Amino acid sequence: MNPVIALVGRPNVGKSTLFNRLTRTRDALVADLPGLTRDRKYGEGRVGGIPYLLIDTGGISGDEQGIDALMAGQSLLAIQEADAVLFLVDARAGMTAADEMIAQHLRQQGKQAWVLVNKTDGLDADTYSAEFYALGLGEPVAIAAAHGRGVTQMIQNVLLDL
Ligand code: GDP
Ligand code: MG
Repeated sequence: MNPVIALVGRPNVGKSTLFNRLTRTRDALVADLPGLTRDRKYGEGRVGGIPYLLIDTGGISGDEQGIDALMAGQSLLAIQEADAVLFLVDARAGMTAADEMIAQHLRQQGKQAWVLVNKTDGLDADTYSAEFYALGLGEPVAIAAAHGRGVTQMIQNVLLDL
């Protein structure tokens, strides 16, 4: 089976923008896959001719619901299904409590995860990425999903590491 990669992060960080960029030259929606739940959006991406399955999710807000509600959410199920997780954060918003909660969950799961610092267009990528190192998931990767900055390099590295 092709590798499965999930996009997670709180609402509005750019998950769907990245999903569309990575799947847009494909017939994006993969309708019926046995064993996969259909309340999430699945699409096919390709790196160097190798296909992978990408999962978009609605987003983990982490606001008033607490960790129990998070554990039941579709994003958490997507994380379970995935071989690797792309965890998006927002360079302009900076670190939030919800980001820390998601990071803690990913660390507990021991899931292979990359922190993608999105919306770095027009910003100094290193400066804005640095604080997210504290999430404890390795070196943050600066991207701009809406403009394509860093996206091709990022997905190549992710697939190579699987
Ligand atoms: P989602 O809720 O995580 O799926 O986020 P969306 O993909 O819907 O994007 C939320 C907002 O962020 C939209 O207005 C996007 O246009 C904007 N956005 C996404 N990626 C970027 C980016 O790389 N740079 C900037 N400046 N805005 C972005
Ligand atoms: Mg979305």
